[in-house]
Amino acid sequence: MSHSSEIQPMRTSLLPYGKQSIDEDDIQAVVKVLKSDYLTTGPEIERFEKRIAEYVGAKYAIAFSNGTAALHAACYAAEIQPGDEVITTPLTFAASANCLLYQGGSPVFADIDERTYNINPKEIRKKITSKTKAIIPVDFTGQPASLDEIMAIAKENNLVVIEDAAHALGSTYKGKRIGSISDMTMFSFHPVKHITTGEGGMITTNHRKYYEKLCQFRSHGITRDRGKMKSNHGPWYYEMQNLGFNYRLTDFQAALGNSQLNKLERFISRRREIAAIYQDAWKGHQELILPFQQESGQSSWHLFVLRINSNTVRVDRKTIFTELMEQNIGVNVHYIPIYLFPYYQELGFQQGLCPVAEKVYEEFITVPLYPAMTNEDVQDVIAAVNRTIRKYKRV
Ligand SMILES: *Cc1c(COP(=O)(O)O)cnc(C)c1O
Repeated sequence: MSHSSEIQPMRTSLLPYGKQSIDEDDIQAVVKVLKSDYLTTGPEIERFEKRIAEYVGAKYAIAFSNGTAALHAACYAAEIQPGDEVITTPLTFAASANCLLYQGGSPVFADIDERTYNINPKEIRKKITSKTKAIIPVDFTGQPASLDEIMAIAKENNLVVIEDAAHALGSTYKGKRIGSISDMTMFSFHPVKHITTGEGGMITTNHRKYYEKLCQFRSHGITRDRGKMKSNHGPWYYEMQNLGFNYRLTDFQAALGNSQLNKLERFISRRREIAAIYQDAWKGHQELILPFQQESGQSSWHLFVLRINSNTVRVDRKTIFTELMEQNIGVNVHYIPIYLFPYYQELGFQQGLCPVAEKVYEEFITVPLYPAMTNEDVQDVIAAVNRTIRKYKRV
């Protein structure tokens, strides 16, 4: 059977699943820094860090060249070493687990909760051993993970919690913004995320010891703090004390971040508005399983992930996916369970490890969601999904 549909696309151009919003004021903010004295670490970085810390309610924020570098630094600050096990979810971007491998740690995948798609605390408990060092929960699509339970498990077992909140800038959990709850929280400023710096990332934390390690790690393991040096050769002297990296963000990227941050609330409310329109449009449809909406907080809706209900739809996800693409709806799939990738298979992980994650992966389709979508764009997505599922409805 051919996958091509007879339906003519109503759109003449592809609607992407995510996209940045850059205005003239963002461009001017970057140009201003390009004409100034600082291109790399300068006043815009400090301001960006301070504003993010304030926004999420954390004591410290440290900017990095990207979210993955930030996660790597957090794994370093948590002292993850060869032999240590780190528990994370398989249903995330590869960076959530790659970061602990950079430190020589061993990933341990705990299955997700079928309702929330987030890591299941009961599964975390089953995976804890004497070697467990940390947990990396991910706030999938912006829905906060079960942070109270995860923090309690961490406390009982003396573990560090590094929260991958790449999707969750502006999300709330029990009245608190994401970014002040776990030991270290990572945000990403990749163009599809809530605000962008091109590439960029941030760690927020309330702990001074993590903050200091993160700062050193970002800049070659070098300190210029006289009080911390082991010797002093003279006024030129600085000291490399640990093996770090160059993971710095540039000042013009931070200027873009600061300009974008002025619009964050508007971006988030538009994302929430679109998510609500989708929820409303599809709520009675037996063919679709809609994303979970938690009562304990509010998602900032990085992604809107639909599940094709295999009990009521007679074709597989690939058919629906292909036909939506043919109608110029830029769907996507988040995520391929990490351990199914060849690299992880070669580490010894096998299919069947996390059956819930594997099952939902087979049914997932991410539909477009970003602040610059017009109401017509939103209606195009709804109409295309409705036409496609109606066509393949089981009778
Ligand atoms: C985007 C993302 C990252 C990595 O961020 P980069 O800034 O692209 O390095 C990590 N984890 C998740 C879940 C992400 O979505």
